[in-house]
Amino acid sequence: MSQDGSKAGPVPRIAIIGAGPGGCILARLLHTHRIACTVFEGETAIDHRSQGGTLDLRANTGLAAVKEAGLWKEFQKYARYDGESLLVTDKKLTTWVRRKQGKQGQQNKLQEAPEIDRTDLRKLLLESLPKESIRWGMKLVRVQERDEGHALHFANGDVESGFDLIVGCDGAFSKTRTLLTPDSVFYTGLADWTMQVPNAKVTAPNLDKLVNRGSILAYSDGRSMAIQQLSSGNIWVSTSGPYTEDYASTCDLDSKDLESVKVLLREDFRDWRPELLEAIDKAEGDVMWRPLYMLPVGFTWPHKKGVTLLGDAAHLMTPFSGIGVNTAFYDAMLLAEQIVSFSKSARPDCLDEHIVAYEKKMFEHAHKAQKHTEGSMNDMLFTPGAPRTSIESWILRHMKEGTPAWSHPFLTAVVYAGFWVYKLFV
Ligand SMILES: Cc1cc2nc3c(=O)[nH]c(=O)nc-3n(C[C@H](O)[C@H](O)[C@H](O)COP(=O)(O)OP(=O)(O)OC[C@H]3O[C@@H](n4cnc5c(N)ncnc54)[C@H](O)[C@@H]3O)c2cc1C
Repeated sequence: MSQDGSKAGPVPRIAIIGAGPGGCILARLLHTHRIACTVFEGETAIDHRSQGGTLDLRANTGLAAVKEAGLWKEFQKYARYDGESLLVTDKKLTTWVRRKQGKQGQQNKLQEAPEIDRTDLRKLLLESLPKESIRWGMKLVRVQERDEGHALHFANGDVESGFDLIVGCDGAFSKTRTLLTPDSVFYTGLADWTMQVPNAKVTAPNLDKLVNRGSILAYSDGRSMAIQQLSSGNIWVSTSGPYTEDYASTCDLDSKDLESVKVLLREDFRDWRPELLEAIDKAEGDVMWRPLYMLPVGFTWPHKKGVTLLGDAAHLMTPFSGIGVNTAFYDAMLLAEQIVSFSKSARPDCLDEHIVAYEKKMFEHAHKAQKHTEGSMNDMLFTPGAPRTSIESWILRHMKEGTPAWSHPFLTAVVYAGFWVYKLFV
């Protein structure tokens, strides 16, 4: 018998590829059930690269996983409920959606979605795992299919084997995925430049006030600006637009030099309100170019014994619904549930049945998330005249997520009527 009184069953040997949010939360969920695993991470250390901006965790997915992983108390130390303030606007600073700031430690009644810096989230997750379970500097090159258990080949020449299950949590360009399917991500036609405004209260007080400790999402003419408060006091800025996939390497400017990129962005965003442009003008330090890729909506792979995927590796989406981490966390809950159930069963040969069950539930949920994200991207980036022409569709997409189906016709009528009147004045 195990300590919780349940029957002790088979103990699977598990390899997780990638210590991103998805891989770490899975390892943590398993750890809480005393199921050990090894996480192989390609980067050499926790602070190998900047983790980027901030993200919000949602009640039924991200926050549910944090609670299930026993990390709720720790999460509260980093969560910023006052970061829930959101302004959805356009280049003229028209208010299309405004969500008020929550109070620290209190839930927003409409949608509980506290912000956390990506760096803080990763640190919190990594610190919750036994040190010896993470192997840094292990960049997977390929998974070799073998009858006696697949072998993992790493860039440093190491080969590891003897696992009952390999979980690819290795993100957009997953090497684990290549064993399962030749299909891969495609370029969306959009890319973004990201930068930071340091100590915004002092260096950009007007922008700081506008951001209101939360986020601004501005859309116009197929471009977007996401401006977000970080816990450090810096403001994170990401500008998206239509570029060729190889733009950064083929253009005339030095894509790693912020001042050169600012010249380009000032031209691209030339008729945007100065209050928004301050986010570009006051940025300092590094600039990063990031082409945006996605997996096709409804992506699946033929099931293969002993290997599965989770998070971006399974369903990479663009950031336009802000649910990538939330979906990865939900996957991890589903997979952990199946592995725990297997470990309590009396049948050492039934792991594969549990993985098939995981994949079925994961696909069902992930396909909805992919559709939602693609819809949000199309509403705001690929609809002429957006957000004016698409705000109703965008809002309803978000509202329908957490509301019963019977209320949707009523919501639709209210949203369209409300915006019909509102548009007479803006
Ligand atoms: C601009 C932007 C904003 C976003 N905002 C939000 C948001 O607000 N909310 C939200 O929920 N989501 C957001 N997302 C999505 C979110 O970042 C991803 O969905 C999430 O990081 C996926 O987690 P993951 O663990 O599956 O993959 P990743 O975060 O990509 O982690 C993969 C890990 O695997 C490692 N790895 C990769 N290849 C190998 C290899 N070959 N061998 C070993 N290790 C390897 C990587 O180093 C990394 O540590 C955003 C994404 C972008 C681009």
